Amino acid sequence: MTEVMQLVPYDAAMSRYEPVIGLETHVELDTATKMFCGCPTTFGLEPNSAVCPVCLGLPGSLPVTNRAAIEYTMRIGLALNCSIATWCRFARKNYFYPDMPKDFQISQYDEPLCIDGWLDVVVEGQSFRVGIERVHLEEDTGKSLHVGGATGRIHGADYSLVDYNRAGIPLVEVVTKPVPGTGALAPVVARAYVTELRDLLRALGVSDVRMEEGSLRCDVNTSLASRGAAEWGTRTETKNVNSLRSVERAVRFEIQRQAAVLDDGQKVVQETRHFHEDNGTTTPGRSKEEAQDYRYFPEPDLVPVAPEREWVDQIQAGLPQLPAARRMRLQAEWGLSDLDMSQLSNAGALDLVSETVAAGASAADARKWWMGELARYANETSTDLAELPITPAQVARVSDLIKAGTINDKLARQVLVAVLAGEGDPDAVVQARGLAVVSDDTALTEAVDAAIAANPDVAAKIRDGKTAAVGALVGAVMKATRGRADATRARELILERLG
Ligand SMILES: [Zn+2]
Repeated sequence: MTEVMQLVPYDAAMSRYEPVIGLETHVELDTATKMFCGCPTTFGLEPNSAVCPVCLGLPGSLPVTNRAAIEYTMRIGLALNCSIATWCRFARKNYFYPDMPKDFQISQYDEPLCIDGWLDVVVEGQSFRVGIERVHLEEDTGKSLHVGGATGRIHGADYSLVDYNRAGIPLVEVVTKPVPGTGALAPVVARAYVTELRDLLRALGVSDVRMEEGSLRCDVNTSLASRGAAEWGTRTETKNVNSLRSVERAVRFEIQRQAAVLDDGQKVVQETRHFHEDNGTTTPGRSKEEAQDYRYFPEPDLVPVAPEREWVDQIQAGLPQLPAARRMRLQAEWGLSDLDMSQLSNAGALDLVSETVAAGASAADARKWWMGELARYANETSTDLAELPITPAQVARVSDLIKAGTINDKLARQVLVAVLAGEGDPDAVVQARGLAVVSDDTALTEAVDAAIAANPDVAAKIRDGKTAAVGALVGAVMKATRGRADATRARELILERLG
């Protein structure tokens, strides 16, 4: 099969087609031990040092369910407005993969622990309710490492190694219902949903939600149908999309690719696809298995899970303040509009602004820097805001320096760029680069006199009372001091001299 390589421009695709998205998110739970044995779940241990007969699937070993994992999963389900099953079972999902030593994965199939909830996300001031189909519990697989190839993939590798430390770590899968009606915002809604879910999981204290370490992983489903069509299109499932930015890019790419396939009169193939971080494209993986290929059956080695009502109520009562409620509180404290707040939140800047305010900056200043200069820098360098090499305390310090009159807004931009470039704290940068505003009168007077001498016509106008011309001289002073002059004081001095 030849892949369509020419993409349809995004706006053109949106003028003819309507997308439906869906997301499956895997979250590694932050329990002390694995799902069915006592091995530790610590990240980064020596390969195959956190294993035992149960998670290696040795004959005769028996699994025992981790109570904390059940509780964490119910916490997630309740926070997502789901119903909790009064009785459910684990199931065996049978398949052979080298990183799954038992040849089956213990998962949940037709009897998930949590069903039928929702999570609201706000994008560009518009609210979208994302339906939650189910939240179920399973065990993670081990990890294969392919050695010797150029790409790290199995093709072209000399040999492969397997690390079973991750095998058996409790993994929650949150599956959304299909989300129609997002139109051109589909990629942004997908990203906003994962951001919201990540913040929710963090607030619940059930996972460290580090996407870069794989504790939060997304599969993104995308389909397209002609505008006004009665039925949805055929969906593809893009696997293991491992950053918030990539979620947005993967949906956008699939929309543009599928539009090209449909424009060409072909059919979209239902399949699994791989996302490539380097160029933002997807390529076909294996064709989608049917559920029957896995021969699911109830796990005979485990008792059913039947949480008592009191236990569920107790978890519900113990839920912390969730991100949506926290946002409402912060929005009121900071006095921001709905639109400003949703932009802040979707840019992943909420915690950063909150910490910058805690470090002494005003909410308006904190927002201005994170959403302005720093967001632009993050965008240009393809980095998430939170990953920028600058701390909220440093941003607050820049804001302080402006308030104290040591630097102005323009110089502050230079200071921020220098901090990002690793030149040290704001104070060190101001010192080293000589960026402090020139406001002492001796230095300023020299610059003012030079400006007057160099622009006699302008000076004459001002002497004649045309004070609007002062701006030109202030500009000359700013230029001569490379932006470091205190503009208000310079203006005063010019008027004193020529008044
Ligand atoms: Zn184990």
